[in-house]
Amino acid sequence: MKYIRFEKEGAVKYGILEKGLIHETENRPFGSIKKTGLRFKPGDVRLLAPVTASKIIAVGLNYTDHAKELKMPLPAEPLIFLKPPSSITGPGEAIYYPRESRRVDYEAEMAVVIKKKAYRVPYQEADNYIFGYTCLNDVTARDLQKKDAQWTRSKSFDTFCPVGPYVETEADPSSLKIEAFLNKTPKQSSNTSNMIFGPRRLIEYISGIMTLEAGDIIATGTPAGVGPMVPGDKVEVKIEGLGSLINYVEG
Ligand code: MG
Repeated sequence: MKYIRFEKEGAVKYGILEKGLIHETENRPFGSIKKTGLRFKPGDVRLLAPVTASKIIAVGLNYTDHAKELKMPLPAEPLIFLKPPSSITGPGEAIYYPRESRRVDYEAEMAVVIKKKAYRVPYQEADNYIFGYTCLNDVTARDLQKKDAQWTRSKSFDTFCPVGPYVETEADPSSLKIEAFLNKTPKQSSNTSNMIFGPRRLIEYISGIMTLEAGDIIATGTPAGVGPMVPGDKVEVKIEGLGSLINYVEG
């Protein structure tokens, strides 16, 4: 099921995408899904980020090809950091280039969306806490990341976390092609099978530290090939079965 959030005439609604049409559902995210009977064409609504999150937990250095590119040893345990909910933006929206930075990078990532409250979840039970998967761009002010000991500033500007276009609730995340395109030029191309710590291990690890709530997002790290964007660029994160997340960089 392809789960979306959208705006129609100023109202925020939920729906599912089926055969190219949006079927509005009752506003009960993560509960049982019930169609209202209303249908819309995708062009007649504004898609929003498919979920709202109390927090975004991101993982650094989680692809073998990215670690190799940086000549870094593989981490023994996940390296995590937070992005604020205020950084979330939707498909088709602008990524605003902050005046504090001279280098802003794209990072194509698969995101895991949490289904229900999770605390100290064992690895074997982690799947029960996953609502689905979507595309995410972990936009990073690389110059500020290098300058600061903590990554908060470089990862947290408003619009630095595009998410969407939909949450796929039925994907198998173990081997999906993941790509980034800048103005249609391929920049990143890998597979989620190159991930060092998969979604189950990440849920086990992160829920051992903090309670995860329904809608929370885990950004599972980026493969090799990250690079800069400038105002005027169109950036696309594309993941097999999870659609294509397109955003525009504005100065
Ligand atoms: Mg990242």
